[in-house]
Amino acid sequence: MEKMETKVVAIDSNNIDETIINEAGLIIKRGGLVAFPTETVYGLGGDGLNPESSKKIYAAKGRPSDNPLIIHIADIKDLEKIVKAIPESAMKLVDRFWPGPLTMIFEKSEAVPLETTGGLETVAVRMPSDKVARAFIKAAGGYVAAPSANLSGRPSPTLAKYVIEDMNGRIEMIIDGGASKVGLESTIVDTTTDRPMILRPGYITQEMLEDALREEVLWDRAIIDEDCKTPPKAPGMKYRHYAPKASLTIVEGLEGQVAEKINSLGLEAVNFGKKVGVIATEQTIGLYNSLFNIKSAGSKENADDAAHFLFKILREFDDDETEIIFSESFEGDGVGKATMNRLIKAAGHQIIQA
Ligand code: AMP
Ligand code: MG
Repeated sequence: MEKMETKVVAIDSNNIDETIINEAGLIIKRGGLVAFPTETVYGLGGDGLNPESSKKIYAAKGRPSDNPLIIHIADIKDLEKIVKAIPESAMKLVDRFWPGPLTMIFEKSEAVPLETTGGLETVAVRMPSDKVARAFIKAAGGYVAAPSANLSGRPSPTLAKYVIEDMNGRIEMIIDGGASKVGLESTIVDTTTDRPMILRPGYITQEMLEDALREEVLWDRAIIDEDCKTPPKAPGMKYRHYAPKASLTIVEGLEGQVAEKINSLGLEAVNFGKKVGVIATEQTIGLYNSLFNIKSAGSKENADDAAHFLFKILREFDDDETEIIFSESFEGDGVGKATMNRLIKAAGHQIIQA
């Protein structure tokens, strides 16, 4: 890959600097790449309608090119050009959740190159709510293809400093818009099937979707059943993702027993000279041996906290050169389901019982 100078600029969402936004937009229109903030995680953007731009995104991320990109739009009027049809269920979800952390799958139109969709005849589309993201998408011509702005396999970036870590020298510009509000990638829903189906869990939960649609929403079996032989419908879900450099193990069980187990396994590792980290909560942080590097994923009472902090914590463990991490498990309902989905992938399915 050709090495380049990456310009890093900060933008205040309450006072958007049009000159910088227009400069970023122009980079995209000319076929370059810009990383930008969204409410979910930072995106690595290129012109979604330009096949060369999509190729550059795969190269910058080191991502397999069969893993399609999401096209980000800023105006609902722009949806028509890139899809063949808008099913009634999709329209209901647009009304309720856009702009916001929901991606939908549509049959793609001719305007969308196969390079952007990883060879699929469908296209994933999202309208983010982040103000900087929307201004940037408009300045870029309306169609910004973007995966998360991390190197393939690493935790998604929720702060610009992590984008700089992964993307410096690989893209033209990074827009720093502060911390991502949600902290996990969007929920992906397929509305081209008979029944709407969740392909990736996220902040918008099954219950929220069912409430908006007034019908049952299914799960892609491949993401909820470990023994399922068919590949996931969202090609990206088949890869090991979000991995910190350390080995990560999830410990399940009753609160006191989990702490006891982690303390004993952790001490063993410390005795072998290893740096040990623990992912706990505000309520349990005091239960662990102070020899460990203990991080809180927020309050047990607020499921949004763990979603918000998980990727940041995984990156911090890398910065601290932690070698072995033990994590408590989180509530598997609502957004907790999405958090657990990412945590299990980060752990490479290493789960033990206390
Ligand atoms: P990322 O932006 O890094 O979160 O990755 C985008 C996710 O969207 C990946 O998991 C892709 O597999 C998924 N995706 C994108 N386009 C499609 C599509 N047409 N059908 C199914 N999944 C898709
Ligand atoms: Mg990603």
